Amino acid sequence: MTLSINCKDVGNPLCNHTIYGETEDEIMKKIKEHAIKEHDYTEQSWNAEMSENIENFKSAIRDSYGKNV
Ligand SMILES: [Zn+2]
Repeated sequence: MTLSINCKDVGNPLCNHTIYGETEDEIMKKIKEHAIKEHDYTEQSWNAEMSENIENFKSAIRDSYGKNV
């Protein structure tokens, strides 16, 4: 099962980037890399974001049918 998350669903309306992964952990790891590379996050500000909003991110992950997982 391939899972995906759209950057625009988790706070950046101007970014059309979609991240794919096989597991929730893989998705969260890849979106962190994307956020640091493309959205000026640092390790520290990402961790702060996660401590406040991780549930928003997890609830935006979809399965290959486009449904929330
Ligand atoms: Zn993005």
